[in-house]
Amino acid sequence: MQDGFGRKIDYLRISVTDRCNFRCQYCMSEKMTFMPKSELLTLEEISLIAERFIGHGIRKIRLTGGEPLVRRDMKDVIQRLGRKVKSGALEELTLTTNGSLLDEYADHLAAHHVRRINVSMDSLDPARFSEITRGADIGKVLSGIEAAKAAGLQVKINMVALRNFNECDLLPMAEYCAREGHDLTVIETMPLGDTGEDRKLEHIEIDDFIAPLAAQYEISPIAHRSAGPARYAAVEPLGLRLGMITPLSRNFCDGCNRLRLTTDGKIFMCLGHSAHVDLRAAVRKDGIPAVDQLLQMALKLKPLRHDFNAQLHGSAEKLERHMNVTGG
Ligand code: SAM
Repeated sequence: MQDGFGRKIDYLRISVTDRCNFRCQYCMSEKMTFMPKSELLTLEEISLIAERFIGHGIRKIRLTGGEPLVRRDMKDVIQRLGRKVKSGALEELTLTTNGSLLDEYADHLAAHHVRRINVSMDSLDPARFSEITRGADIGKVLSGIEAAKAAGLQVKINMVALRNFNECDLLPMAEYCAREGHDLTVIETMPLGDTGEDRKLEHIEIDDFIAPLAAQYEISPIAHRSAGPARYAAVEPLGLRLGMITPLSRNFCDGCNRLRLTTDGKIFMCLGHSAHVDLRAAVRKDGIPAVDQLLQMALKLKPLRHDFNAQLHGSAEKLERHMNVTGG
């Protein structure tokens, strides 16, 4: 598949639920309300829609949310999509999770052809972790990561950069990741949805965020690429691969290869735009073949780039959608 700007689209992110057992301050408001369950795509719809997307050239799928592992039939979702990897129809099935339920899921993921997962963890300090997640226990996440490692899953830690909050956590996080053999990716916050916090105050550019690490270690760019928008560097002599996702300070939309399927069955072509097509409505009315036509429409509507800077500074309309609906 190609979009209107000639970009090859072969990557789909599916948000399987908007619910989450954490309430990260930059992601949701404290009193977040979630969709009624009837709005969510069913297991059957997810697997049929995914199959159709794969038929059109999607080679990689990432499951996300909300917290994907809180979905009740998540083991079936993993099993069904894992079969696509086994048959060779899909190159890769991955997952982004907060890690808190990995004790229960690690073996199941590994058994169904998931090889790599991303775990979000913004601090190793128990008090700061609890503060940012509004009450979660870092111990559960760390033991979940252990279980994932023991099951043979490759783990990448995602850490969102928050000004005046977790700059001091980067050094211990980098050393932990190097010790445990995990990659680490740091991410600039995006102004998605109202969280009750001032987005401008929490924003910090990645170059500033990694300054304490750069003061201690040698950080040099490397050619490594993943399916996502990160650029990579080697941190030596730590032996850490560091990914940097810079939606605000360094745009990466030229290389965008993805579409997003939301919890309620909409295709969003860009995290930073509200344009979308409603697959669920069409599928429930006309059946699965409706996907083909809407997919072509989605490709034509994919915008050239996001403009989170303008949204952050108020010169473009703010996006009301929170990250947990579209999926991170
Ligand atoms: N619950 C899972 C998790 O914690 O990874 C998956 C969903 S979560 C929305 C996916 C990723 O988006 C997490 O790494 C989270 O930190 C990140 N995220 C959420 N809101 C964000 C925002 N406004 N800007 C940047 N990253 C955000």
